[in-house]
Amino acid sequence: MTRTIPGLHHVTAISGPPQANVDFFTRVLGQRLVKKTVNFDDPGTYHLYYGDSAGSPGTILTFFPFADAGPGRAGPGMASAYAYSVPAGQFDTWMERLAGDAIDFDGPVERFGSRVITLHDPDGAPVELVETGRDAVDPTDGFHSVTLWERDIAPTAKLLTDIFGYAEVGHEALDGTERLRLKAPGDARGAVVDLMRSDAPSIGRQGAGSIHHVAFRAESNEVQLEWREKLASAGFGVTPVIDRQYFNAIYFREPGGVLFEIATDPPGFAVDEPAETLGQSLKLPPQYEPLRDRIEAVLPPLKVA
Ligand code: ZN
Repeated sequence: MTRTIPGLHHVTAISGPPQANVDFFTRVLGQRLVKKTVNFDDPGTYHLYYGDSAGSPGTILTFFPFADAGPGRAGPGMASAYAYSVPAGQFDTWMERLAGDAIDFDGPVERFGSRVITLHDPDGAPVELVETGRDAVDPTDGFHSVTLWERDIAPTAKLLTDIFGYAEVGHEALDGTERLRLKAPGDARGAVVDLMRSDAPSIGRQGAGSIHHVAFRAESNEVQLEWREKLASAGFGVTPVIDRQYFNAIYFREPGGVLFEIATDPPGFAVDEPAETLGQSLKLPPQYEPLRDRIEAVLPPLKVA
């Protein structure tokens, strides 16, 4: 059987100061902070992970909150949005609650037959909620999709279909914006990728409010190595396996320029703290544990309700 990618593992974005970020994603969006750690390449900065109550792959949104990050904005060659699945029976309740709490949102608009509303996080980045049929225990059912803004859709579509095993499932064009929808086989969370091309001139820039990279799932370390082989033989410059404590990661640029990662499901977020208390204390990888006092002294205090 040909191996296919089941869907998204996580999405990583850049934010401004961390407290506003935590408040928005836990209180407004009902996500659980499942890991409070540091940027492994810059341990004076947090790395915050939000997810469903179990911290499942396909629900994970992570942030590097840089206190001095300039404003970012999406453009061609960048991921421009991610969308959470909201169960169909809860979509109107969500809109009523947001309106009641005076949280602004755009829409609803119809996209491929589903209603979509767009909120803005404290850095102004779009957060889409898509009405789907799926039931969920949590306020959202993890990711529905990610949108990649491309100059040319075809080469990225080819990677997703020929290598990842996705299928084209829809095409929409409206007001100078074209959107090609691709979907992984099966019904894992985050199985959808939208490739978007726009006539609007824009130059993207990484900074607070922009998406840094998009990670897809590998079910095991062995499967990840297979993906690494396959991508390398297709000519992609893929990194060696990097230990990210909660998963192993490999990275490469897709043809349009978006940074892609393939991350393993194991070991997951309960590897260094109990599932019941995920996210409550600052977790450091072994190499930084001896520096804990110094790291805690430079990180801004963070209150999680
Ligand atoms: Zn990542």
